Amino acid sequence: MQRLARQWQQAGKAVVFVPTMGFLHRGHASLMERARELAGRKGRVVVSVYVNPTQFGPKEDFARYPRDVKGDQRLCRAAGVDVFFAPGDAEMYPADFSTAVQEEKLAGGMEGAARPGHFRGVATIVAKLFNVVLPTAAVFGAKDFQQAAVLGRMTRDLNFPVKIVVAPTCREADGLAMSSRNQYLSLAQREQATVLWRAIQRAQEMVARRPAAAALLQRETARMVAAQPEARLDYVEFFDPATLEPVRTVKPGTQMALAVFVGRTRLIDNGRL
Ligand code: AMP
Repeated sequence: MQRLARQWQQAGKAVVFVPTMGFLHRGHASLMERARELAGRKGRVVVSVYVNPTQFGPKEDFARYPRDVKGDQRLCRAAGVDVFFAPGDAEMYPADFSTAVQEEKLAGGMEGAARPGHFRGVATIVAKLFNVVLPTAAVFGAKDFQQAAVLGRMTRDLNFPVKIVVAPTCREADGLAMSSRNQYLSLAQREQATVLWRAIQRAQEMVARRPAAAALLQRETARMVAAQPEARLDYVEFFDPATLEPVRTVKPGTQMALAVFVGRTRLIDNGRL
């Protein structure tokens, strides 16, 4: 990959990169379409599939994270991707690997607080992949809002010459954000999982009328989640989308993010109110 990337760089090609953990779905395909548009006919689109061990906590689902390389290759081919890059663990992490990248402001709350070490793993692997793929642009999903913010900051702070593009969240017909983890859900859990999107819509309705206290909206979300027998709220936050700083008063334009366990499966979602 690296040799090809150097050739493209020398030829001045636009190279648009979509990093993923695989088990690809329509949400990932939408990022690839965006990448294709950005790269143009003469540019190149690279998709990586790598389930990065360092971004999973010891009690998380790394071992059982769904994998389907053949299916992923098919989806990438259909999406007009030029290079499908699936590095192995030995290639990414030699046995004596001892370096990490850590963003220290935006990564602290929400997913960073709930999953210690997660963003350190994410920033490290994305920095490494940037150095291998040498992209001119990279596309990330708004589904992982905080991740996109952390990686945008990392890219700027470390002077990666990469334009960061954030593409909208793809949803199922009932509003559930597409995710490789949705396949863990039983039928009953799948229905209950719509509570994340319903809670976002409820908050949208509430603040459309008049600004509301974050505490009130937090209680409303907790109530909606508690009404689902197998769901448990991990966190819900209302914050400034530029700084990720929590707000006390929620208005249109405030960002909402939440994480909910449905059974053993942890789902996240977010939206602009
Ligand atoms: P993942 O494979 O889940 O790590 O995701 C790889 C990329 O796809 C990340 O930039 C995600 O934000 C993005 N992504 C995942 N799910 C969706 C979705 N439903 N809509 C849009 N982008 C998504």
